[in-house]
Amino acid sequence: MAKGSCLCNALQFEIAGPIQAIGNCHCSMCRKTHGAPYSTYAQIERDHLKVLAGEANLNRFSSSDPVTRSFCATCGSNFSFEFEGVPQAIWIAVGLLEDDPSLRPQHHMFTGSKASWHDITDDLPQHETYPPLPGE
Ligand SMILES: [Zn+2]
Ligand SMILES: [Zn+2]
Repeated sequence: MAKGSCLCNALQFEIAGPIQAIGNCHCSMCRKTHGAPYSTYAQIERDHLKVLAGEANLNRFSSSDPVTRSFCATCGSNFSFEFEGVPQAIWIAVGLLEDDPSLRPQHHMFTGSKASWHDITDDLPQHETYPPLPGE
């Protein structure tokens, strides 16, 4: 079980189950919401996410048709990423975890829109756009 919180601590949550996958996303939207060359999200079963505090303080934003992101309205920490076609899963920003996620990033996605100023220096698989979705 991994616990996490946002920068201002209004948001407190725990992941009551195994993390299924971790990926680095290089799309332009993740880059902007994180203010960083890429995002790192952990995929979990939605039922395993327990928000202990701060749920009402989350803002939600649809960054593209199938995608809704949430972030802390006070400090702006990115929290979740939801994909309309995959209601059983939710992706949580790994940077908010206080505990080790027990898994390491497994791939890079959306490398087709990677920042020109960032070089990928590891040997993880790279996907031009989405990696295969769960169950595919
Ligand atoms: Zn916050
Ligand atoms: Zn992305």
